[in-house]
Amino acid sequence: MTAPVKAARRLGPGACIGVLGGGQLGRMMAVAARRMGYRVVVLDPNPRCPTAQVSDGVVVGALDDLEAAERLAAQVDVVTLDTEHVPSDVLETLETLVPVRPGSQVLRTIQDRLTQKQFLDRLGLPQATWAKVSSAEELQAAFAKVPRPAILKVRRAGYDGKGQVRINHDTEAEGALAALRGADAVLEQVVPFRRELSVILARSVSGDIAIYPLAENDHRRHVLHTTRAPAPVSAETRAAAEAIGVQIATTLGHIGVMAVELFELPDGQLLVNEIAPRTHNSGHYTYGACMTSQFEQHVRAVVGQPLGDPRSLTGAVMLNLIGDLWSRGKAPPWDEVFVLPEARLHLYGKDGVAPGRKMGHVLLLDDDTDRALARARQLSDKLGAGPPPEPPEPPEPAALPEAPAR
Ligand code: AMP
Repeated sequence: MTAPVKAARRLGPGACIGVLGGGQLGRMMAVAARRMGYRVVVLDPNPRCPTAQVSDGVVVGALDDLEAAERLAAQVDVVTLDTEHVPSDVLETLETLVPVRPGSQVLRTIQDRLTQKQFLDRLGLPQATWAKVSSAEELQAAFAKVPRPAILKVRRAGYDGKGQVRINHDTEAEGALAALRGADAVLEQVVPFRRELSVILARSVSGDIAIYPLAENDHRRHVLHTTRAPAPVSAETRAAAEAIGVQIATTLGHIGVMAVELFELPDGQLLVNEIAPRTHNSGHYTYGACMTSQFEQHVRAVVGQPLGDPRSLTGAVMLNLIGDLWSRGKAPPWDEVFVLPEARLHLYGKDGVAPGRKMGHVLLLDDDTDRALARARQLSDKLGAGPPPEPPEPPEPAALPEAPAR
C-alpha cells in the first residue's frame, strides 16, 4: 500500500475528520469531536442526514461512490466511518490519500460474515456452528454440519435481523433460499443463549486498549431494546469477555471503538455473535454514564490522541426508541421522559419514521440497575411500545436489508 499523502500523525483540535455514513453514530461522534474543537465533514446520500445536521460540511454521495469519497478525503485530515457497509475497495483507495481508521483490512475481514467467521475460527474463538451456503446443494451439505433450528444469514449488509431466515425443518430450505433471493449466505445454529452481552472497547494508534464495563442486551424482534451496564456478571465472565474483545481488536490491528456481541450459554460459556468495527448501539450508555463516552473515545483514537478513561461514573440502562413508537402518526409523549430526573433523551433527527428504525434512545442513570431496568420497562409502556420485553427468542424469518446499518 502507498503511504497516505497526508502523513499519519497526532492531530490536534482544528483538524478535520471525515465520516463515511451519516447515521446516529456519526452524529454523536460529530458532537463529541466539535466539542473538542475538531471539524467534521460527512459523506452521505442525504444532505440532511443525522450527522450532517451537526457537522461543518457534507459531501452528498452514496457510500460506494468513489469520486464522492475522494472529494471528502481532499477536505479532511483523517477518515473514519459510522457503518461497516462501506466497500473496502473505496477505503483502500482513500488510504492512498489520507489515514483511514479503522483501515480497509479490518473492514474486509468483518463486512462479510463468511470472512468474519473464518477469522474467528482462526483465532480459536467459540461461535455457533456454521457453514457457508451459496447454493441449494451447499445448503443441503450444511445441514449435515449445522443442527436445526438454524438461521440462514446473508453474508453482506445484514443488520438487526434483516437478511436472516430461520429454518426449523429441512423442508423449509427452498423457501429460505428464495427469501434471501440467492444472496451468498452462512447457515448458523440457533443458540439457546441465557443472555446477550457486548464488550465495547477502543484501541489507539499506539495499540493501547480501553475497555468499558460489560453491557447486557435485550432484543425485541431482532432490534436492541434495552442495554444494562455494568452487566451483572461474575468477574470470571467479565474477564473472559474482555479477553475475547482484546484478542480480536489486537489481531485485526483495529483503531477506534469496536463492539463484540456475545451469547452467554446456560453453562456460562461465551460464543461470539458478531463484531462491529465502530461505535455501537449497546455502547450508548457510555455517553453520560462513563468518564469518556464511546464517541469521544473513537475521536481520540482516530486523531491519534491517547485514550480517555472508560470507567463508569454510575450504572445505566438504555432504552431504544424505535420508529414503531410513532405509529399513531405523532411523536411519543416526551413529558414521560422529562418527568424522570435521571433520564436523558437522545433523538437522532431522522427525517423519516419507519417501523424498526432507530429514532433515538433514553438513558436512565442509576447505580441500582435493577431499578433502572424496571423504570425503562415502565417508560417503554408509557411511550407506547407495548408490554415489556419477553425473554430472548430465537429469530423469526425477516426481510432482506434495504439500506446500510443504522
Ligand atoms: P445479528 O444481526 O446476527 O446480530 O442478529 C440479531 C439478533 O438475532 C441477535 O442479537 C440475537 O438476538 C438473534 N440471533 C442472531 N443469531 C442467532 C443465533 N445463532 N442464535 C440465537 N439467536 C440469534
